[in-house]
This record gives sequence, C-alpha cells and structure tokens, in this order.
Amino acid sequence: MNLSLADLEHLYQLPFNELIKQSHEIYRQHHAVNTIHLCGSLSIKTGNCPEDCAYCPQSVHYHTYVSKEALLDADDVLKVARYARTLGVGHFCLGAAWSIVPKGSAFQKLLDIVRKVHSTGLQVCCSLGSISEEQAQALLEAGCTTYNYNLDTSPEFYPKIITTRSFESRYQTLQMLRKTKLKISCGGILGMGESIADRLKLIQYISQLSPQPEMVPLNALVAIEGTPLGQKSFIDPFEYVRIVAIARMAMPRSILAMAAGRHQMSFETQALAFFSGANAIYIGERILVTPTPALNADLDMLKKLGMKTYENNIDIR
Ligand code: SAM
Ligand code: SF4
Repeated sequence: MNLSLADLEHLYQLPFNELIKQSHEIYRQHHAVNTIHLCGSLSIKTGNCPEDCAYCPQSVHYHTYVSKEALLDADDVLKVARYARTLGVGHFCLGAAWSIVPKGSAFQKLLDIVRKVHSTGLQVCCSLGSISEEQAQALLEAGCTTYNYNLDTSPEFYPKIITTRSFESRYQTLQMLRKTKLKISCGGILGMGESIADRLKLIQYISQLSPQPEMVPLNALVAIEGTPLGQKSFIDPFEYVRIVAIARMAMPRSILAMAAGRHQMSFETQALAFFSGANAIYIGERILVTPTPALNADLDMLKKLGMKTYENNIDIR
C-alpha cells in the first residue's frame, strides 16, 4: 500500500533516531543491508541543451565550465564501459544533454552505443531526455535495461526551476515508460530552495508510479557557478538522510542511489544514509558532468563499513 502525503509528513516529524531505525528495519526486510550496487556514468553528449533547468551546467541558457561536445563515438564509449567493468561497476548510465531524444542517424548511432555497452555485460541505463514509445522500445531491443527520467522536484516548485517544460508532461512520459518493459530510474534533486513539503511531494509522486521505479537516484544539488542556483549552500546532511529514510519507507523494494553531490558529503553522512536505506553509489570520475569522490576514497569507506558490492561479487574486505 502506498504511503499518503500525511503518512510521509508524520514520518518526517519523528525524532531522527526513530525515523532511521524504522527505515532501517524496512530496508532489512527487503535487501541485503551490507551490500550496495556500484554504478558508473558517462556523458555521451554534453552541453548546449535547450532546456533551462536552473541547476544544470549543460543548459545553453547559462555560461558554465561545461564545454559543448557532440555525441561520442561508440568505440570511445565502449572503452570507458570496459574500464568501468574492471572497477566492479554493474549499472552504467549513459547521459545526454538533450531535451528530446533525436531521430534519424543520431538515434541509430545511439543504438549502436547501447549495443556495444550491453555487450560488455554491464546493465545499461539511459538518461537522454524526453522519448517516444517507439524509441523506448528500440532502446530496449538494443540492450538498454533502464531509462532514467527524473521528476526533480514537486509540481508546485517545478516552475521556479524549469520553465521550458512542465512537471505534468514529465509525469506523462514516465507513465508511458511504465507501460514498456524498461525498468525506470526516477529521482530528484534536494537543496534547490524547495520546502520540506516539496521534498515529500516529490517522493510521493515517484512512489505512486505503478509498479514503483526500480531505481531512485537522490541528488543533492551541486551548486554550479554560472547557473541561477550557483550560490545555494549545500543541503544539511540530516535533511538529506531524512529524505533517504522517507524514500526507503515509501519504496521498500527500489534501489536507492546516492547520486550527484555525494562528493560533498562526509563519510559519516554517507554511513547514515546507508543505514537509512541507500544502497547504490556512483563511482568513477563524474556523474554525467558533476564530480564523484575519488575511487580509492570510496573503496576505503566501504571497507571501513564492512560493506560489499553486488556486482561481480567483489568483496572489498
Ligand atoms: N537531459 C536529460 C534529462 O534532463 O532528463 C538527462 C541528463 S540530466 C544531466 C540528468 C539529471 O542530472 C537531472 O535530471 C538532474 O537530476 C541531475 N543534475 C543535473 N545537474 C545537477 C546538479 N547541478 N546537481 C544535482 N543534480 C544535477
Ligand atoms: Fe538539459 Fe537535462 Fe540539463 Fe535540463 S537537466 S538542462 S534537460 S541536460
């Protein structure tokens, strides 16, 4: 049974220890709590995006450090995917700064990239913007397992962050994707100036998809100079962990990923998030275009916590 907004509000009001104790118990019922998924990602088409997402360095509307790059060649993507595989990555996300997935030869090139990454044994996730049902089907046939399409924030806060598209159209695309055989990755960004109610509504909308998304990436805003949110301070760690705990209780079976912003969190914050129900991290150089922590630091953290990874049965101990 889905938790209502009132349920989520009630949970949010609990003392911190009570909240994370409850979410940990639910987490324990559905997952191996000392094991996490390692995810990798690569931006296959960077910058020059026509959308105006206020957090994003890839929007054509803002001047940021991101340089514009055309769609990468499939063989170059394959090299990175093979390297990711040697690190023990299981899920590999291909991201593109597109508003709408292109048609024609660019789409054929994309399918070739997906086929090659799939051939390495990695689970392929695509994060490419708005997509049609036919394109989703073609991606699936090429070997893509999961489509990432984030809702990012509540319907009320959405127009303060993005004006070039609507929350409703995004939600409709998710419902279309839900009818295909692709798995769904759908999450959001915390720390953009939204209220607690906005965060809870975001979690509620994501959890209402039926079946619930297989993966939920929880990004903490990485404030990037040149974007309208460039001066925002980093989210309070306890507020981040509270949303991890709420998301875990609202979506007991989903993989909950600590995505963008993790490089700005202490090991202690990450340990609390793991306890509360986070069970995936992105490793490697970057998550699309935002940095990730150094690989050795991540492996050291997991070792200290006595944690294993699902992929390749790598035992960090
Ligand atoms: N263009 C596609 C789209 O928007 O669906 C896919 C690529 S986009 C870079 C993927 C996700 O990255 C966004 O939905 C957002 O959640 C996240 N993201 C982008 N910039 C970020 C930032 N500065 N801080 C945190 N998350 C960010
Ligand atoms: Fe474009 Fe995606 Fe960035 Fe928005 S988040 S500007 S759609 S790349």
